[in-house]
Amino acid sequence: MTLPGSAEVVVIGGGVVGVSTAFHLAEAGVQVLLLERDELGSGSTCKAAGGVRAQFSDPVNIELGQRSLRAFEDFARRPGGEIDLKQHGYLFLLSEPADVEAFESGVRLQNEFGVPSRMLTVAEACELSPYAVPDGLLAAAFSPTDGHCTPEAVVQGYAQAARRHGAVIRRHCAVTGIDVSGGQITAVRTEHGPVATSTVVCAAGAWSASVGEFAGVELPVRPLRRQILVTEPVPDLPPRLPFTIDFATSFYFHDEGPGLLIGMSDPDEEYGFDLRTDDRWLGRLSAAVERRAPRLAEVGVAHGWAGLYEITPDHNALVGEADGPGRFLYATGFSGHGFLQGPAIGEVLRDLVLGRRPVVDVSALDVRRFATAEIRPEHNCV
Ligand SMILES: Cc1cc2nc3c(=O)[nH]c(=O)nc-3n(C[C@H](O)[C@H](O)[C@H](O)COP(=O)(O)OP(=O)(O)OC[C@H]3O[C@@H](n4cnc5c(N)ncnc54)[C@H](O)[C@@H]3O)c2cc1C
Repeated sequence: MTLPGSAEVVVIGGGVVGVSTAFHLAEAGVQVLLLERDELGSGSTCKAAGGVRAQFSDPVNIELGQRSLRAFEDFARRPGGEIDLKQHGYLFLLSEPADVEAFESGVRLQNEFGVPSRMLTVAEACELSPYAVPDGLLAAAFSPTDGHCTPEAVVQGYAQAARRHGAVIRRHCAVTGIDVSGGQITAVRTEHGPVATSTVVCAAGAWSASVGEFAGVELPVRPLRRQILVTEPVPDLPPRLPFTIDFATSFYFHDEGPGLLIGMSDPDEEYGFDLRTDDRWLGRLSAAVERRAPRLAEVGVAHGWAGLYEITPDHNALVGEADGPGRFLYATGFSGHGFLQGPAIGEVLRDLVLGRRPVVDVSALDVRRFATAEIRPEHNCV
């Protein structure tokens, strides 16, 4: 493999965050090298459910989600490529009084940012998502511009456009170390030799803690397995089925080709990099399906997979520049909503690298927040 001897910026990781960052930097005229140890998107990005939304409780997440939604809508023009975006909305089904209250205040905040979210009655929610049954539901929250698209297509779209703007992308090239001298980065070391650089962007997803260690930067990101199933074709699939989430159990589904993609968190899951699929979560999933969407209990499963959430202590991302060494930037720990933030985060990283004021103020996502009491728990996590 041939590697450039030097690069102005080295991006470590070829998931949505890395390729979006590489695209936005290259478009701005920066000489960028992206290093991915496997295939592009092979980390968490291509394991994602593809959900894109601006319905969050934290203002930073609302802004990042909203700005990214606009970028997904404009993707065919810039960077270019078909991503199969379906804006059928995200529908949160709520059965706990405290959640109704939290979503009501979330909707008010989202509306201030121009997000067209609103609260729905149970009858309205079940009409939008006809598999859902009303038993035990109190209300729902819905935003019609949320939806889902295809992660692989987003990754390839950004990567191809980044290359067109002069970025160099190398797959199967793991970064194995970062050289620092006098408090400044001088090079990254890879399994295929060193590359001189002064600036590193860590976009290594669930593996970011070890990349941080290369530079002596503590990034509190832990891997947590999540599993997904895709069903056999479902007859009479509603043409505009929203991404539907039973918030109390976290059971969710959306249309995926002629079938449905189904997921749910497993509270017994322990942190780790194990990506084998198993049946342990299926008991809880079946109970949630029977209760909330009983018609789906009869649908056959076609296939499934496991991927990793990259969890931080407050389930909010880490985005910023380390105190030292100089020019070590990071964008990681998206805790299950990194795909939908990828476009805006790439812009933010471009701005941070260039010393500009970022398009979204991400100072609240600086890793230094854990040294103080100012953590920002995100409520609308799935
Ligand atoms: C089951 C599941 C469902 C999800 N659903 C959604 C969803 O609906 N919406 C949403 O927004 N998010 C969702 N997510 C979360 C989303 O997938 C992640 O937040 C997002 O993909 C993170 O992107 P990333 O680029 O930071 O990380 P990744 O895609 O993991 O990319 C990091 C890359 O870094 C590479 N790397 C690591 N170490 C090195 C090294 N030393 N040298 C070179 N390369 C290295 C890895 O190989 C990897 O490809 C889901 C995740 C899972 C697991």
